[in-house]
Amino acid sequence: MSVHRIDGTRAKWRYTCPNGHASWETTNGHFWCHQCSRLPDADAEFWELLDGKTGERLAREKVTVNG
Ligand SMILES: [Zn+2]
Repeated sequence: MSVHRIDGTRAKWRYTCPNGHASWETTNGHFWCHQCSRLPDADAEFWELLDGKTGERLAREKVTVNG
């Protein structure tokens, strides 16, 4: 089990919310997506970040974001 360190905005694009957006942020214990928050039928909060490179789903405790 490795922790994914995400350094800066460019690295962040590799990871998305379950709906494929890169406009997510970390909050306490989970994630939140700007674009999902604007969609009437989507839940802006989510618990597993999608790694677009490996297809892996990452729980909040496995992700560290810098900058
Ligand atoms: Zn989203």
